[in-house]
Amino acid sequence: MTDYPFFGHIIDNEEVESLDGKRFDTINPWTREKWAEVAEASAADADRAIAAARKAFDEGPWPRMGRNERARLIHRLADLMEEHADELARLDSTDMGKPFVQAKHDVGRSVWNFRFFADHQRDHVGEVMPMDSGHHTYTEYGPAGVVAAISPWNFPLMMASWKIAPAIAWGNTCIIKPAEDTPTSVVLLGRLAIEAGFPPGVLNVLNGYGVPAGNSLTEDPRVDRVTFTGESGTGKTIMTAAASHLAPVSLELGGKGANVVFDDADIDNAVYWAVEAIFRNAGQVCLAGSRLFLQAGIYEEFLARFKEAAENLVIGEPFAADTQFSCLASEEHFRKVKSYVDTVEEQGGKILTGGIAEDGSWLVRPTIITDLPLTATQYCQEIFGPVVVVNKFETEAEVVHLANDTAYGLNAMLFTENLSRSHRVSSSLKAGTVWVNCFFIRDLRTPFGGVGDSGVGREGGNFSREFFTEPKAVVMQIDREVKA
Ligand code: NAD
Repeated sequence: MTDYPFFGHIIDNEEVESLDGKRFDTINPWTREKWAEVAEASAADADRAIAAARKAFDEGPWPRMGRNERARLIHRLADLMEEHADELARLDSTDMGKPFVQAKHDVGRSVWNFRFFADHQRDHVGEVMPMDSGHHTYTEYGPAGVVAAISPWNFPLMMASWKIAPAIAWGNTCIIKPAEDTPTSVVLLGRLAIEAGFPPGVLNVLNGYGVPAGNSLTEDPRVDRVTFTGESGTGKTIMTAAASHLAPVSLELGGKGANVVFDDADIDNAVYWAVEAIFRNAGQVCLAGSRLFLQAGIYEEFLARFKEAAENLVIGEPFAADTQFSCLASEEHFRKVKSYVDTVEEQGGKILTGGIAEDGSWLVRPTIITDLPLTATQYCQEIFGPVVVVNKFETEAEVVHLANDTAYGLNAMLFTENLSRSHRVSSSLKAGTVWVNCFFIRDLRTPFGGVGDSGVGREGGNFSREFFTEPKAVVMQIDREVKA
């Protein structure tokens, strides 16, 4: 027994230790101290979670329940999340160093994920296709089965809820494996699902490392769908594992977003969003605008204002009310980001502002880099930290080429007051989402996902319905007189 709070697995509506009793520590990255213990799954625990989800799907009430009742239970969970919003946000801030104010905002978005998909499945309509042959065909969207959901650490609750909500709303049962650095808010979510009255086995939480916890889920033929958010390399491993039993995968992976500011942009607006796009959540955002392209006519003015805005961000401990920017999520991640910053000058670049806080903390200040060659690792690879590389461009064609010249294709942003150009450039950009004169705005009905190394498939609205169900065509004879 220890004095640390304990977070177990949630399997079959019970919070349990691992079968071998193994636990791992979770570290508060601001204090750099252990603050809780978490059950660490082995393959045997994964087997237990899959068996629970499988039984709940094959024999339990959830997939057979009326849409209204399922929606009612999911809304009940959302109500409980709202009641526990401070606690959920506190867990995310403690686990990853995210400013509490931002974590609270993430809880709101997580609640909305559940409410949206609860209503979406309840209100959806299928299609009816009348046929010249005297038949008609209608579509039915039945649940797919057991969903393995694997989530990253940068928005611990929000990313997990983005996977869980459509999965369970469409009548599937689910096992979520949260990232090992930030599991606690998802365990609380599992506790709340029990309180909300979810049947056993519908929402299971398995804590542990990618191997053996995550891969035990993706390799298991009892799993019917794998939905994953994380690094591109991990995504490739997961796709290979799921292919062994032909489970469809949805992969939301890394990014190296282009943020393009034209001479005619509203500069106040563009500076505001450029700061948000790379320094919110300390840049630990797949959608980050980590490559900033400025047209020559505004280059000097924009850069000066962007630098000033970056330097004005309030850096501090996550729970201070005015903190806008805090430390990175773990020592391992800090070391990775630091290695990129430490090598800027040897790769030919200049650090205009920012850099590593040399006080032993895991803080990297909002960092702006200029003059880097386009072959530099900082320009080509996802850093996943508060580090932006700035380049100058002259023409529209040039910047479209630069923006698209990357292995990634998750998102892009452009700032211009020219309507025709905004349509033309949006259409030419290789990205799953393009934001014009804004950033981070999402409607859950719209497709979300990436191109190339940024992912496979789309989720959101009917795109989630396609992934989390087995659509069926039912062909009926209507008119016996007409022959095909
Ligand atoms: P990661 O790939 O290291 O880990 C993500 C999850 O996968 C964790 O839960 C981890 O335990 C698990 N995992 C690791 N190896 C596994 C394996 N072999 N089998 C099964 N599961 C395994 O990613 P991360 O460092 O947690 O997250 C950061 C990455 O996530 C960045 O690349 C970021 O761009 C990406 N991301 C993408 C989106 C998006 O929507 N496209 C959103 C957020 C984060």
